[in-house]
Amino acid sequence: MQTLKLQEGIIYGPIKSRRLGPSLGINLLPKSYKLCPFNCIYCQYGWTLAHTDNASAYMDDLPTMEELEEALESWLKRGQDVDYITFSGNGEPCLYPQFDRMVEVASELRNKYVPQARLAVLSNSACLGRSNVIEGLKQLDERIMKLDCGSEETFRKVNHPHKNIKYKEIVENLKNLDDMIIQTVFMDGETNNLENGEIEQWIERLDYIKPREVQIYSIDRPSADQTLKLVGKEKLQKIAQKAEKITGISVKVF
Ligand code: SF4
Repeated sequence: MQTLKLQEGIIYGPIKSRRLGPSLGINLLPKSYKLCPFNCIYCQYGWTLAHTDNASAYMDDLPTMEELEEALESWLKRGQDVDYITFSGNGEPCLYPQFDRMVEVASELRNKYVPQARLAVLSNSACLGRSNVIEGLKQLDERIMKLDCGSEETFRKVNHPHKNIKYKEIVENLKNLDDMIIQTVFMDGETNNLENGEIEQWIERLDYIKPREVQIYSIDRPSADQTLKLVGKEKLQKIAQKAEKITGISVKVF
């Protein structure tokens, strides 16, 4: 089965997101390949070819500020409503070197054309050590941050991070980030994040980080690793109940 096609432009959708409703996507990343510090085994876009924690070598393939402004404004001018405008796309949006400025531009255009829409990011949490990323994240209405695992070992097997990225640092950076949602993908198969105390360790991390909410789901599209198996809703509900009971944090199943 084929993985999802990459987004071909800067603006895509609106897509009917499982978690956000109608959401207009902004792709700050290259159009013809995925740029990401992770290489998640479940990635819907297939394997990561440009696996990096630094986008500076790829600048020629990234949209400019002017291109983003023009693309977003020309879409919003048409007058169609959206619930969310979301930074996501072909990889990790926070890799964009001027992420904070991009958020400012999108925020100004949102205020002008669709003031009721919320600005969000879907991020893998790998770039939280950078001040421009933190500044950009603060200006958004929703920060939806990835944490799929409870241990460094499983993190390496599931997310295949770039060598400079350490699980412990991600957990500490998430703890220091105010008012955000953690999103977690559960998967079964030879590599999974369900066994050997992994769920219990993940719950411990949630209790430490104290996000406002946790959203969990399983794979629903062909993955990079096609041997992965879906985790059923019943199992996800049990994980959610256990995590809620221990942490007191709202855990929603999608
Ligand atoms: S972080 Fe997202 S884009 Fe990057 S490899 Fe993982 S699922 Fe794919």
